[in-house]
Amino acid sequence: MSRAQLFRATLFHTRANPFREAGALQSEDDGALLVREGRIAAIGSYETVRRADPDAAVIDWRGGIVLPGFVDAHVHYPQLRIIGRLGRSLLDWLEQAALPEEARMADIGYATGTARRFVGALASHGTTTALVFGSHFAPATAALFDAAAAAGLRIVSGLVVSDRFLPAPLRQTVDRAYADNTDLIRRFHQRGRLLYAVTPRFALSTSEAMLEMCQTLVGEHEGLRVQSHINEHHDEIRKVAEEFPWAKDYLAVYERYGLTGARSVLAHNVQATDSELARLAATGTSIAHCPTSNAALGSGIFPLRRHLDAGVRVALGTDVGGGTGLGMMKEGLQAYLMQRVAADGVVLDAARLLYLSTLAGAEALGLADETGNLCPGKAADFVYLRPPEGSVLDLVLQHASGPEEALAALFTLGGAESVREVRVDGSVVYQG
Ligand SMILES: [Zn+2]
Repeated sequence: MSRAQLFRATLFHTRANPFREAGALQSEDDGALLVREGRIAAIGSYETVRRADPDAAVIDWRGGIVLPGFVDAHVHYPQLRIIGRLGRSLLDWLEQAALPEEARMADIGYATGTARRFVGALASHGTTTALVFGSHFAPATAALFDAAAAAGLRIVSGLVVSDRFLPAPLRQTVDRAYADNTDLIRRFHQRGRLLYAVTPRFALSTSEAMLEMCQTLVGEHEGLRVQSHINEHHDEIRKVAEEFPWAKDYLAVYERYGLTGARSVLAHNVQATDSELARLAATGTSIAHCPTSNAALGSGIFPLRRHLDAGVRVALGTDVGGGTGLGMMKEGLQAYLMQRVAADGVVLDAARLLYLSTLAGAEALGLADETGNLCPGKAADFVYLRPPEGSVLDLVLQHASGPEEALAALFTLGGAESVREVRVDGSVVYQG
């Protein structure tokens, strides 16, 4: 057995869901993480962990902070290059900004370049696991999986399917979508750290036949995930109601085709009804909350309290390029800010922000046995943060009077410039 590694730093992780359990946050000021064969063997104070394995090689990161790798529960890889097209609402933004760029993914050279930059950017922001919308084109979606495998990240993704509403180059026939999905599943699902997600873009762009095809795929292959969008903007919701007159609400469309449940993650749900929330909770369907996107596109303020009260699982997603960047700490801060101005907002303390950006995403993806926190037995997926010397964050951290203050400061001021090293299964996937 190879020699264990002991990482000495200030440590934070959530052992459980802090919305439900007091004391879920574990913090160790002079802490240590013991890693053996890519798994976490122990976590605790440096003194305790050192005694447990005096032979471990010590990596001295004192003065730095180690967190679990971030989990981004909703992001679009083809939109990396169009971050920041501000001033539009959802349907205009799709038409003018997002969809023209998504059409460029027909060029495999362009797609491959974007995929590599995208995966590299996830890692450089400390994200180790992500649920990613692929491309409408199979080769471009394969390019993302290839880039993710080369970089070593945990990526769950799939071909985006649509057969109406969108410009012609982004539409597939149902037969073609079925064949392409089947091929991609065979090539990438459960290969290394990759998983496949059936990905209807949203109800508006998919016919009933296409949704039925998605249901068929889920039935034909073990362990697939499902991702889509729901209840993002009033105009979109009205159009969905027109297209599916038999559906009592937006969620009912996905329900009819078996696309909800514990392996499904639906983004946004800004305009949710009480009935939808009750059914999401009953089926264990997760919602990806994307606060920078909701604000940038003017979609609205996420009703977090109603989701929590109903018992719906919620994780954070950046929703690039509707969102404003790949940083999960920034996304956490935006969630906090929007809840502060919401009429019935939930105060998101540091433990809750850390949970929403790590363990909650792992739970939504059915990967909580593997990643999401630093509990012994899990994969050694973590990020080492140390703000640039002389930066404001550096100053604030030195001045923090306790661990929760330090963690809150990190979410307030931290970004990619503070990410020094990122590991997945104990292997380095990024060094800054
Ligand atoms: Zn999205």
